Amino acid sequence: MNYHVMTLFPEMIEHAMNISITGRALKNGILALDVVNIRDYSKDKHNRVDDYPYGGGAGMVMQAQPVYDCHQDLVKKIMDRTKEKGRLPRTIYLTPQGHTFHQKMAEELAKEEDLIFLCGHYEGIDERVLQKIVTDQVSIGDYVLTGGELPAMVMMDTISRLIPGVLHNEDSAEAESFSNDLLEYPQYTRPPEFMGEKVPDILLTGNHAKIEAWRLEQAMERTKKARPELYEAYMLKNPPKLQKRRKKK
Ligand code: SAM
Repeated sequence: MNYHVMTLFPEMIEHAMNISITGRALKNGILALDVVNIRDYSKDKHNRVDDYPYGGGAGMVMQAQPVYDCHQDLVKKIMDRTKEKGRLPRTIYLTPQGHTFHQKMAEELAKEEDLIFLCGHYEGIDERVLQKIVTDQVSIGDYVLTGGELPAMVMMDTISRLIPGVLHNEDSAEAESFSNDLLEYPQYTRPPEFMGEKVPDILLTGNHAKIEAWRLEQAMERTKKARPELYEAYMLKNPPKLQKRRKKK
């Protein structure tokens, strides 16, 4: 996966992505990260990239020209590498006005070879350039942040975990919350007793079938409590007969 990030604050992205699991995947070459500073494309003698909003109102708006030129440059770089002249890479604008990000969206995006993330700042970006270059508008939730950098990182982090080789144990992404419409079961590690609380006996039996059945029960129980709408959707897709068969396996 090749990530390309258009931002006014490259160091924010570079620093965070080079840590821990994504950092290791970048070093191993499973992921590639190209962060470009939109300001480098400003034609203003003071390198300005924002201006007052037409019609008045608070704050500043990022101008179309530096964003457009930056994007053109990126697309050319990608096209030169892939030689896939016909298909433009997906360009995701992070915005509270977009579709809310979720695991299934991450699974779909993980199949792409290149993804361009456009991070806004201030009051956002001139609508005219968004109309020209953006293929997807994505929000990470119903709240407003100062910039698109954290949302871009949230998306890249989530997508990266789904790319083969990024996690050492491929199974860990498969059983996780949302991957099967349920929240994950509770996890325990050593010691077997902590402040008088013991690890559930079943986990120490070594009986994998029983452990699986217990985990499914736990996952259903906590989903029902914390996310009743997810639980309902799960029950519709997995009527009790099907669940019994799964438990037996
Ligand atoms: N004026 C914009 C509005 O009301 O929709 C909000 C602009 S926000 C202060 C600045 C930038 O932060 C946005 O352009 C976007 O890139 C990013 N941003 C803020 N909240 C976000 C969210 N929930 N999801 C994704 N991006 C967000």
